[in-house]
Amino acid sequence: MVVTHPERVLYPELGITKGDVAEYYRAVMEWFLPGVVDRPTSVLRFPDGIGEQGFFQKHPMRGLSHAGHVRLREESGKWAEYLCPNDASSVIGLVQFGTIEFHPWGARANSLEEPDYLVFDLDPGQGVSWRDIVDAARQMKRRLGKVGLDSFVRTTGGKGLHVVLPLHAACTWDDAKHFVQGFARTLANEQPDRFIAKAAMDERGGKIFIDYLRNSRGATSVASYSLRARAGATVATPLRWQDLAKCKGPGDFTIDTVPRRLARLRGDPWEGFTTLRQDLKQALHAYAEAD
Ligand code: ATP
Ligand code: MN
Ligand code: MN
Repeated sequence: MVVTHPERVLYPELGITKGDVAEYYRAVMEWFLPGVVDRPTSVLRFPDGIGEQGFFQKHPMRGLSHAGHVRLREESGKWAEYLCPNDASSVIGLVQFGTIEFHPWGARANSLEEPDYLVFDLDPGQGVSWRDIVDAARQMKRRLGKVGLDSFVRTTGGKGLHVVLPLHAACTWDDAKHFVQGFARTLANEQPDRFIAKAAMDERGGKIFIDYLRNSRGATSVASYSLRARAGATVATPLRWQDLAKCKGPGDFTIDTVPRRLARLRGDPWEGFTTLRQDLKQALHAYAEAD
């Protein structure tokens, strides 16, 4: 897949070009692909660079028919074609069209009614420090562990962290919602100075919003190893829990540092993520009634 106009600048402050973005995705491809292949995936495109307005796109674009798509029933009941990358050439094809970020569903195209992972998106309000977010993520890991759920952590490349838990397919979106909502509300009730489980912006000051709303049919969250269209050209980066101790913030992981990190890594920071089969039985029992 050839990228035309590789010299086009997409990050004006850093001078990062479309060619650099393609080179980044080529360098991390084997790590990136498992997070997007065979999943409906929205892309965030910035054909004129991140200094100009970008846009989310869910549907295939003209001129990119080979990039992979799936026909699915939307929440409204309407059927539509969705982008659904199937290989490296899909990814580079989307970069050719100005894509910087990739946002998959938490379900596979062949099993759209069954999420295969859940995401707790920790969104810090004003005045919350990076250390506070790290502590909150660790606390969630411990709490999830108590109901038998192993979880994984990644930087988003933005302000927060994602705590991600793989599931057994066969969990329904309904179960997913009952659990994540119950869990988020329980934490917010117990520690109201620290957590909030409501989206209200004006109540977030000093607290961490546990955004559980990524876990519904059709919702997306950023893919692991996706570049972000943010200052610093940061990357959503899976970490080992112990890596959080030396992580100073999202700026540690960028278009420059992540390919080097991956070249040095021994083993997958999320080892076991794709083979772990967890169900929500115990977790639903403990938290669903908090609804
Ligand atoms: P941060 O750590 O800065 O919060 P984040 O990736 O978690 O980074 P959020 O703003 O918390 O960002 O989450 C927004 C999520 O909403 C994205 O991950 C994206 O997948 C999803 N989303 C779906 N549709 C849209 C849209 N049209 N515009 C923006 N985000 C969208
Ligand atoms: Mn977030
Ligand atoms: Mn959010």
